[in-house]
Amino acid sequence: KAKEGGGNRCQSFEPSFHEQIQRRITIEHNLRKAIERKEFVLHYQPQIDTRTNRVIGLESLIRWESPEFGRISPAEFIPVAEESELIYLIGEWALREACHQNARWQEEGRFHVPIAVNLSSRQFYDQKLKEGIEAILTETGMDPQYLVLEITESMTMHVQKALSALRSLKSLGVHVAMDDFGTGYSSLAYLKEFPIDKLKIDQSFVKGIRHHPANASIVSAIISMAASLNLEIIAEGVETMEQLVFLGGQGCGVMQGYWFSHPLEANRVPDFIAKFNAGGNEWL
Ligand code: C2E
Ligand code: MG
Ligand code: MG
Ligand code: MG
Repeated sequence: KAKEGGGNRCQSFEPSFHEQIQRRITIEHNLRKAIERKEFVLHYQPQIDTRTNRVIGLESLIRWESPEFGRISPAEFIPVAEESELIYLIGEWALREACHQNARWQEEGRFHVPIAVNLSSRQFYDQKLKEGIEAILTETGMDPQYLVLEITESMTMHVQKALSALRSLKSLGVHVAMDDFGTGYSSLAYLKEFPIDKLKIDQSFVKGIRHHPANASIVSAIISMAASLNLEIIAEGVETMEQLVFLGGQGCGVMQGYWFSHPLEANRVPDFIAKFNAGGNEWL
């Protein structure tokens, strides 16, 4: 995924296999020090209800400002962390930071908007995750109803294991969203058994709406399936007015994407929400 933006890059600029391995090793090495050096930060991307024109959610997205690599994408370093125990530390940091921030915004009486945190596969299947989240909720004073855990569809391939992990997490009173939906070949027969709250349509389908009729059909099918399963639906990666109009017309009212806002630094979030909700969004 990290290479998607690369387009038709000349072959000879591709890093060699050796260079790729080297980079991975160095990333892992530096990740170990990154937490204590406070090199991680969360950005927050607004989620918009286009029917009411309000910000109804925020997705937290981790950023790593590494002295060695500069800004490095989570699409690159999360998979590296996932191959070691580091993912537990990073994942726990992200959960605590998001809950802490949200609780603070609520205390300040600024706004009451749920916050989504991405879970990695190892975290999701960690027997200690539930306890960990419970402790973080207590410690930060975060109301569990405002916490949305995002898992990806591909993490639910082992249906029985996924079911029991989901049930255990849901017993905390948190919400669960299935991210990147449509890319993971999950069994539709089991989808209705999963105690999840919402589906996020993967951005690859949203991107293809204009030029690939098949993508438009897939998007429509996912939206109507979500409706019949009583799941909330949200579209990711909305970048154009055309996509917005199409999605709205198909019955998907909640959207997230660069059209509305890039992920924002925490200190810019209150202003964005205040302005947006006040109607400072003439783009419609
Ligand atoms: P995701 O959870 O599917 O997040 C959506 C990604 O799409 C984010 O990339 C976001 O910045 C980007 N995005 C949002 N709107 C648009 C748009 O309109 N157009 C385009 N092209 N992209 C858009 P980001 O922040 O680079 O994160 C990539 C992935 O890394 C995330 O995908 C998620 O799987 C993972 N990730 C991010 N933060 C965390 C974290 O705290 N923990 C874990 N385990 N994974 C994380
Ligand atoms: Mg996500
Ligand atoms: Mg996604
Ligand atoms: Mg993704």
